[in-house]
Amino acid sequence: MAGLTLEHVGKKYPNGYEGVKDFNLEIADKEFIIFVGPSGCGKSTTLRMIAGLEDITSGTLKIDGRVVNDVEPSERDIAMVFQNYALYPHMTVYENMAFPLRLRKVDKAEIDKAVHEAARILDLEKLLDRKPSALSGGQRQRVAMGRAIVRKPKVYLMDEPLSNLDAKLRVQMRAEISKLHDRLGATIIYVTHDQTEAMTLGTRIVVMKEGVMQQVDTPSKLYAEP
Ligand code: ADP
Ligand code: ADP
Repeated sequence: MAGLTLEHVGKKYPNGYEGVKDFNLEIADKEFIIFVGPSGCGKSTTLRMIAGLEDITSGTLKIDGRVVNDVEPSERDIAMVFQNYALYPHMTVYENMAFPLRLRKVDKAEIDKAVHEAARILDLEKLLDRKPSALSGGQRQRVAMGRAIVRKPKVYLMDEPLSNLDAKLRVQMRAEISKLHDRLGATIIYVTHDQTEAMTLGTRIVVMKEGVMQQVDTPSKLYAEP
């Protein structure tokens, strides 16, 4: 179970700028919710507040009904996947995927099991000894996904995870992410600029503009011909 509730959530940066204003949204368990909107409209800020990487300056964020405004990122059971992958260049694929578990002092046998399971799901079994520099773009993105899924979090936050990939790979990875969503049974919040991605992946789409949520609806309703 992992539903999220945003009640009047706002972000005022120290310089006084309001990046997000009075955001109200109920996200159901296992939803695949998409955030769209022009650059600078507050998508990343919202994701970072949900992850706990940025303070919420007004309002309340709840996960499964529990207020988490002051809960540390590591205690939120949330994983983030970024567009630039953020892999450690000096570590192998195996070590990159093991890292979040090593940080949490999980024992070696359990780490080994989790890494191999993630590698199987993401078709990375033959690449475990490689460094990121010896991988293609799509493979790197799969390692970044792998590093997120080893912890089996209930919520995934994905910030334009496919935007650095070429068109063909994007279509392929889109299908993989859709399968992953079914398989993991997790809640996903996903930022994209790509309308096809939004339509094919999303259960609902949130449209943001200048820090304000303009609209939220299913893809078919949002993109219906007038
Ligand atoms: P998006 O992800 O939709 O492109 P962001 O959430 O990154 O937008 O940014 C929302 C707004 O907040 C932007 O106008 C951005 O310039 C501003 N912003 C982001 N970080 C800061 C900061 N540390 N201080 C002041 N303003 C910021
Ligand atoms: P893409 O065009 O998809 O980015 P690349 O042309 O970079 O892929 O790589 C094609 C294949 O060669 C991939 O399977 C990748 O893992 C492998 N590869 C790329 N660079 C290296 C390297 N330095 N050492 C070993 N294998 C590599």
